[in-house]
Amino acid sequence: MQDNRPMDTDVLRRNLDSVRHRIAEAAQRSGRSPDEVTLVVVTKRLPVEVVPPLVALGALDLGENYPQELWEKVNHLGNSSVRWHLIGHLQSNKAKKTVPMVRMIHAVDSLRLLQGLDALVADPENGPAVCLQVNTSNEPAKHGWSVDEILADADAIAGCRNLRVAGLMTMAALDTTSETARPSFILLRDVREKLKERTGLRLEQLSMGMSNDFETAIEEGATIVRVGSAIFEGVFS
Ligand SMILES: *Cc1c(COP(=O)(O)O)cnc(C)c1O
Repeated sequence: MQDNRPMDTDVLRRNLDSVRHRIAEAAQRSGRSPDEVTLVVVTKRLPVEVVPPLVALGALDLGENYPQELWEKVNHLGNSSVRWHLIGHLQSNKAKKTVPMVRMIHAVDSLRLLQGLDALVADPENGPAVCLQVNTSNEPAKHGWSVDEILADADAIAGCRNLRVAGLMTMAALDTTSETARPSFILLRDVREKLKERTGLRLEQLSMGMSNDFETAIEEGATIVRVGSAIFEGVFS
C-alpha cells in the first residue's frame, strides 16, 4: 500500500470542498439538513499516504472495499481518528479480523453472513453497525438480497441480538447516469419502509450514491454517500 506517487493536496482539498458543497446543495434542494448526510470517502486502491491529508481536511469517515486492504491501512496507521467503513463484500472467513477495526459494514449481503457477524459481536455498544445490501437493479452479478427475499427474512433479521442493523445499502446498475440510477434509490427507500414495519427496527441509514449519482441519492433520502473518484480525480499524477 505504500507508494511514492506525488500527491497534490491542493487538488484534494478543492475536490473535497466541491463534493461537500454539492452534498449540501442536494440536501437543501430536498428540504433536508446537510448534517443528515455522512460523506464516506472511498480510499480503495490508494496508498495509505492519502489518509493523513484527508484527516487534516476533516474527512474522518473512510471506506475500503477489500478487507485485506483495510487491514493493511489500519495496521500501517496505528491509532488514528479514522472511522473505517467496509463497503465491499465480506467473506465469512475475514469477518473476525475485520469486525474490531470498523465503524460500519455496509454490504452485508446474506442472512448467513448477518448471523455470523451477530455471533461475533459480544458487546452491542462496541460492535460495528451494519447495513444490509439490497440488489435494487436486479443485476445477476450484484451481491445482496432481492427485495422479496429481504422481506421474507424480516423475522430472522429482527432476531439479531448483538449486532446493530442500522439500515440498507444499494448500488445502482453499472453504466447508469445520475437520472437512470434514481429508481434504484427510490426502491431502496420503499424497501426500508416495509422492512421497518416488519422488523420494528429503526433502519435510519440509507447508504446509497457514489461519484456519478450521489446527488440523486441524497434527493431520494441517502444518509450516507460513498464517494471515491470525484474526490481523487487529478490528485495523483
Ligand atoms: C468504489 C466504490 C464506491 C465509490 O465509487 P466512485 O464511483 O469512485 O465514487 C462506492 N461504493 C462501493 C461499494 C464501491 O465499491
